[in-house]
Amino acid sequence: MTHDVTHTLPDELLLAYGTGALPEVFDLVVATHVSLCDDSRARLESFDAVGGALLEDTAPMAMDEGSLAACMARISDSPAAAQRPARRPGIFPEPLRKAVGGDLDKVAWRPIGMGARQAILQDTRGASVRLLSIPPGAAMPDHGHRGLELTLVLQGAFEDEFGTYRRGDVEIADEEIDHMPRVLGDETCICLAATSDRLRFHSLLPRLAQPFLRI
Ligand code: ZN
Repeated sequence: MTHDVTHTLPDELLLAYGTGALPEVFDLVVATHVSLCDDSRARLESFDAVGGALLEDTAPMAMDEGSLAACMARISDSPAAAQRPARRPGIFPEPLRKAVGGDLDKVAWRPIGMGARQAILQDTRGASVRLLSIPPGAAMPDHGHRGLELTLVLQGAFEDEFGTYRRGDVEIADEEIDHMPRVLGDETCICLAATSDRLRFHSLLPRLAQPFLRI
């Protein structure tokens, strides 16, 4: 399945994922992105080949004995290494389909205003994974981040100050970045977003709504 994915995950994040060093809250986004992105998948698999050498280079991450084995286990668990089943209709790659128990029609959407909807898949002490459905022409309120945020596009497209993101693309945002993602085109934008901590909204209304939206 080849897409023109232009915003891929950097090696550091893929390696952290492969070794289990990446906080668990990002696992689903990474696994789903890797299903859609030949480039990220190839690099994740290449860590298998480069193996020990690459892990030595990243010694500050304090790998223990089990890390390499864990990395290999994860790679062999990855959708690429397994025999991929025939494509089914729908927009969710297998890892997401598994997490949701189906495709778009199985998502328990809740309205969050302005025609946008979300479905929280995981929320642990502020670290959350959610699906977002944002209608054409709409935007997320301007916000900053307290930790890392990964946003993967599954359908449609959005843009912000840093680029344009389409199916398979991941935007990486952190404390340094403020942005206001805006939907592009006439298709509803469906994204899978994971954050390690609550967002920082700059205007009052979204701040007031924040506790209810758990965002
Ligand atoms: Zn953000």
